[in-house]
Amino acid sequence: MEIPRDGEHDGTSDPQTDNPEIPVGQDGHDSSEGRGSQESGAFAQPTVGDVLVAVEELWPESLAEDWDAVGMVLGRPSRTVQRILFAVDPTHEVIDEALEWGADLLVTHHPLLLKPVNSVAGTSFKGEAVHRLIESGCALVTAHTNGDSAVGGVSDVLADAFGLRDTVPLVPAANGLPEEGIGRVGNLPEVMKLGDFAELVFSIMPAVAGGVRVSGDPQGLVHRVAVCGGAGDSLFDAVRAQHADVYVTADLRHHPASEAREAAVNGRPYLIDVSHFGSEWLWLTPAASALENVLTDQGFEVEIRVSSRNTDPWDFVLTPG
Ligand SMILES: [Zn+2]
Repeated sequence: MEIPRDGEHDGTSDPQTDNPEIPVGQDGHDSSEGRGSQESGAFAQPTVGDVLVAVEELWPESLAEDWDAVGMVLGRPSRTVQRILFAVDPTHEVIDEALEWGADLLVTHHPLLLKPVNSVAGTSFKGEAVHRLIESGCALVTAHTNGDSAVGGVSDVLADAFGLRDTVPLVPAANGLPEEGIGRVGNLPEVMKLGDFAELVFSIMPAVAGGVRVSGDPQGLVHRVAVCGGAGDSLFDAVRAQHADVYVTADLRHHPASEAREAAVNGRPYLIDVSHFGSEWLWLTPAASALENVLTDQGFEVEIRVSSRNTDPWDFVLTPG
């Protein structure tokens, strides 16, 4: 069972305890077979270094923003990898899940150490996370804004989930292909009412306490849709330049959102504010599958899972009525 989608969530189950892992690797694979036996035609286990080569192929570090910290956070390139867990956040709950499963590598979207540190002493929660992973032999790799920008990245997955066509980046990558960059904008197959489109978004997102917030007339018509996984309130100029009818992103703060609505033309772009975690969690399964495909093509065999833990920090919400 997956983390429940909003549309099917009964409001009582707890995604943190109700959801077993979501296997995307080879079901029933016997991990004792095939190790290091590529010459006999069977698959071999990759090293962390081999996986990093595949990660670079999918989500090149050159696509990361200047301020970002992506790539290997901790681990030895020479260590062999049998099990890889994908997650949005390297929280202790996710680390619990990785270590209980026996993961050799944890791939997260968000960096554990975005800012430089002078200590990883176990007295801080980040230092403790570093210690737990190293002591358990589990490497940690981050694919953050490179994972956003790449083809098949976070915003591509959102655009696909909403059925958008003819998508292009909202902001093309400075060092990439024309189809790489932050955010995406494209067209729905047919014109929809904003209220109906918001329902579609709600049904696709994993269930989180904050739900989905909308600014605009539910009867307003939308066709051109801009999306940006994660916090996207710095991209309003690009959203307007692309003449988007509605913008779906996360972490919309009061002032950028309010001013965007004041500057709206004929009410557009409408805004749909979704969970930051949820908008990026959707990427994990296709990302895990893509990594598995690259490794398989290279003659490697691994078990890959997507974390079932809901790491959205909000637990409940109060609304009038
Ligand atoms: Zn994010």
